[in-house]
Amino acid sequence: MKAINGKQIASDIVDELTAKTASIQGPKPCIAFIRVGEDPASVSYVRGKNRTAEKIGITPLLFAFEDSISQETLDAKIDELNADASVNGILIQSPLPSHLDEQSAFNRIDPNKDVDGFHVINAGRVVQEDSAGFVSCTPAGIIEICQREGISLEGKHVVVIGRSLIVGKTFALLAMQNGPQANATVTVCHSRTRNLKEITRQADVLVAAIGRPEMVTGDMIKDGAVVIDVGINRVEDASKKKGYKLVGDVNFAEAEPIASRITPVPGGVGPMTVAMLMKNTVKAYELQNS
Ligand code: NDP
Repeated sequence: MKAINGKQIASDIVDELTAKTASIQGPKPCIAFIRVGEDPASVSYVRGKNRTAEKIGITPLLFAFEDSISQETLDAKIDELNADASVNGILIQSPLPSHLDEQSAFNRIDPNKDVDGFHVINAGRVVQEDSAGFVSCTPAGIIEICQREGISLEGKHVVVIGRSLIVGKTFALLAMQNGPQANATVTVCHSRTRNLKEITRQADVLVAAIGRPEMVTGDMIKDGAVVIDVGINRVEDASKKKGYKLVGDVNFAEAEPIASRITPVPGGVGPMTVAMLMKNTVKAYELQNS
């Protein structure tokens, strides 16, 4: 099938992790979520992660703070969770309100509990190709999709649009690693890139992580390319119960006839991010108990 069923792949990973946690004697793996404010998307993301953790047999803990929380209070909670041996993974739901220093909060998490992979040490481990660390969940999820769908990156020209640490930059680093799951030739594009279309049309694998609804149009895609759409954008749609619908960064209707494989939105990369978070949490548990 042309469309990649990320939901199914994520569900397979959830089943594998459920079997693994079922075999654990004694306390199960535990993940602590820190959420600040009531941003609807953040509330919904944390709820989804919480639900998946429960399904797998990972104990979720939720710490929800008011928007006005101080950096000191946030830091104190991170320190407390770092010191708590029963907590294996800590996730701070991004974005934090602008008065808080998000990267400093990520860097305060014990790197061995940093299941989101945003700590400077874990980002550095990706650069050093050290698999002991935790890889940011969305880029790791794209690599997992490629592996499970038999999409080889070896020798391919991978073009990534977007250079955030959370997605674009980290995926670019993973795709260029020296290893059987990678070995790609990588080009990274961003808002200052000139002649974007000329570059994207050279891509064997095109990864869009931009945050602009349906920006990648059919004429930007080479015939037979693999298209990975990371974008999750809410656009108004009065016909929907919630008043909006989710679309990716790729115009799916235009891209689908041209691409050899494509991830839809929703149901493509999104579910993989949560599955990889759970995989990292079980890995953290195993590392802390070995
Ligand atoms: P950021 O805003 O951090 O980064 C966006 C990147 O896109 C930047 O590097 C920016 O360039 C680049 N960009 C913006 N406009 C253009 C343009 N016109 N042409 C070329 N490049 C452009 O976003 P994230 O990386 O955090 O997220 C990207 C998308 O992925 C969002 O839709 C987000 O919701 C989604 N997402 C999905 C996840 C999932 O689970 N599927 C997880 C995380 C994110 P510059 O650096 O120059 O500003």
